[in-house]
Amino acid sequence: MSISVQSLTKLYGKQKAIDAITFSTQPGKVTGFLGPNGAGKSTTMKILTGFIPQTTGSATVCGFDVVSQSQEVRRNVGYLPETNPQYLEMYVKESLAFIADVHQIHNPAKRIAEVIEQTGLGPEHHKKIGQLSKGYRQRVGLAQAIIHDPKVLILDEPTSGLDPNQLVGIRQLIRELGQTKTIILSTHIMQEVDAVCDDVIIINQGKIVASDSLHGIKEQYKGKSIEQIFIGLTSGLA
Ligand code: ADP
Repeated sequence: MSISVQSLTKLYGKQKAIDAITFSTQPGKVTGFLGPNGAGKSTTMKILTGFIPQTTGSATVCGFDVVSQSQEVRRNVGYLPETNPQYLEMYVKESLAFIADVHQIHNPAKRIAEVIEQTGLGPEHHKKIGQLSKGYRQRVGLAQAIIHDPKVLILDEPTSGLDPNQLVGIRQLIRELGQTKTIILSTHIMQEVDAVCDDVIIINQGKIVASDSLHGIKEQYKGKSIEQIFIGLTSGLA
């Protein structure tokens, strides 16, 4: 199991953002993490990447505990946060060199050229990040997330705000990466789930309400689309 989450709970003051969630993901699978706004997706992802600690429960990534072995977790995880924070004054290559340095990558020039190629950044690599379109900024975020060749990728709404052409490109890239890595991605776009996900976890008000393969969940709710299943499970209309 690449990601294993046991009874994970996070409180922000009195606000319970996630409530004793348990799930696991398998290598070589893309798992869609779905839920309405405020369901607890970003909180879960931040805990899995070692950005914030849980209140109770435990989580491991590639067998490493996210709190007590957070260095090992960071080595094995690539993370694209929802806001994709970037230094807008940096050139694309410069920003990748900076991240390569953080990861102490051997032969950074070779690796930077590889990720530029892989993420389709070639035509724009000479620009400052602030000069790039949103789609290309997402590619920079993805290039930064994969530069150390992590086994697990955690992508928080990687396609939000992209135009249809950009969507196709990023989804294809995610599918390609998903052949060799474990990917967990959050999204509000149900077509995306059909297009890229093998497995689906649906979270609502901090609790998991479904966790299955995409095929399995469709079998269970025969005749319903993933959108109808999502609305049924998260709006109380099931
Ligand atoms: P999602 O990613 O599914 O939209 P979040 O994990 O961002 O959900 O948020 C889950 C809940 O936790 C929400 O009610 C949100 O307002 C709350 N929350 C998130 N971050 C904080 C924070 N730093 N302080 C207080 N409450 C927070």
